[in-house]
Amino acid sequence: MSSNPVAAADSAQHTMSTDVQANQRLRKRRLGMSFISYQVTLAIVVLCWTLDMVPIRVVLEFWVFSLIINAGFFLLIHFNLNLKFRDPSMTGLQMVLSILPPIWVMYFLDAGQARAIFLMIAIVPALYGILALRTREFLLVGFWYFLLYGVLLLAIGLTKPDVLAPTLSIEIIQMLAFTLVMAQIATIGGFISGLRGKLRKRNRELNEAMARIQELVNIDELTGVFNRRRLFEVLSEESNRHSRAQGPFSICILDIDYFKQVNDTHGHQAGDDMLKTVAQTVNESLRQIDCFGRYGGEEFLMVLPQTPLTGARTKADRVRQTIESLSFDQIKDGLRISVSIGVAQYREGETIEDTIARADEALYKAKQQGRNQVVGEDG
Ligand code: GH3
Ligand code: MG
Ligand code: MG
Repeated sequence: MSSNPVAAADSAQHTMSTDVQANQRLRKRRLGMSFISYQVTLAIVVLCWTLDMVPIRVVLEFWVFSLIINAGFFLLIHFNLNLKFRDPSMTGLQMVLSILPPIWVMYFLDAGQARAIFLMIAIVPALYGILALRTREFLLVGFWYFLLYGVLLLAIGLTKPDVLAPTLSIEIIQMLAFTLVMAQIATIGGFISGLRGKLRKRNRELNEAMARIQELVNIDELTGVFNRRRLFEVLSEESNRHSRAQGPFSICILDIDYFKQVNDTHGHQAGDDMLKTVAQTVNESLRQIDCFGRYGGEEFLMVLPQTPLTGARTKADRVRQTIESLSFDQIKDGLRISVSIGVAQYREGETIEDTIARADEALYKAKQQGRNQVVGEDG
């Protein structure tokens, strides 16, 4: 049970690490998709080999090349090394490397038309990038593709001039068309990434609003401790837990003595300040599993899980002493306050209201006996 706001923050941190794990799983899945893309390309390379367009050696080289790239990315993600990068998805890097195996095959393809097929294939990783890269990064990757294609043509032109010569004009047009297509994809990518940015911002605002609503629902506005609604929620959780034999729990009702006098003598604002101080002081003195909230007016309730009556009485008396030692010099020099506390232990099978009624009776007795004291239900 996280009945303290501090514990809630701890659990938020825990959620963050499971978020990271979920993202890593997603990255592995995406890598799996990219691996399948490579296999599709491999099938085309094999087809080229069966039609005598490339030697078998090139098929094997393509396969090994793509295997090394994928295994490398897999290991980076598996050992969480990718989390050190600015973009842990490594989309840009994957795009930069993914063009290399098809370019390699293209060098050995002597039929100019066949090279166009691999240009088409090179567009696929660009589509992955649409979801991750900003326009500028996208244009850089596009330029990298353009550069590699230029180097490829140059290499073919230098080493096999007779292969390039008949189709040179087509090659140049292909290269330009490819560059323009990449530029357009980059523009669309930039547009989508803008939309995603807006969506992220909306999501953040929505999460903030949800957190604020959660706070409004559970926290008492004046004192900053839990409100009555949340107290009853915790009490119901505790009584359910108790039914499953999880040990005793006790409740303490705390009422400020002669509080009306504070209001009457020093004003309502001074009374409010005092309520705030008392609430914060008690809240800070409790264990993380304890729950403390404003029951109403100048009355507060403590829920002490795994605590029998005797332990609760001791705890309550420590709280009473702490409040007794508080000074409210800012309201009036030497002003002190005290509290009376009634304690009861939950009994198997009864309703929460029954327990509260017994604690209330004990509180009444504490008031009767002169205030500034703790009384248990057993007298
Ligand atoms: P006792 O020792 O018997 O508890 O005396 P008391 O004066 O504390 O008891 P009583 O229940 O008669 O008075 C409670 C007072 O608490 C009355 C009300 O004006 C004041 N009060 C309740 N809620 C607030 C609040 O939010 N702010 C302020 N300033 N006063 C409040
Ligand atoms: Mg009262
Ligand atoms: Mg009172």
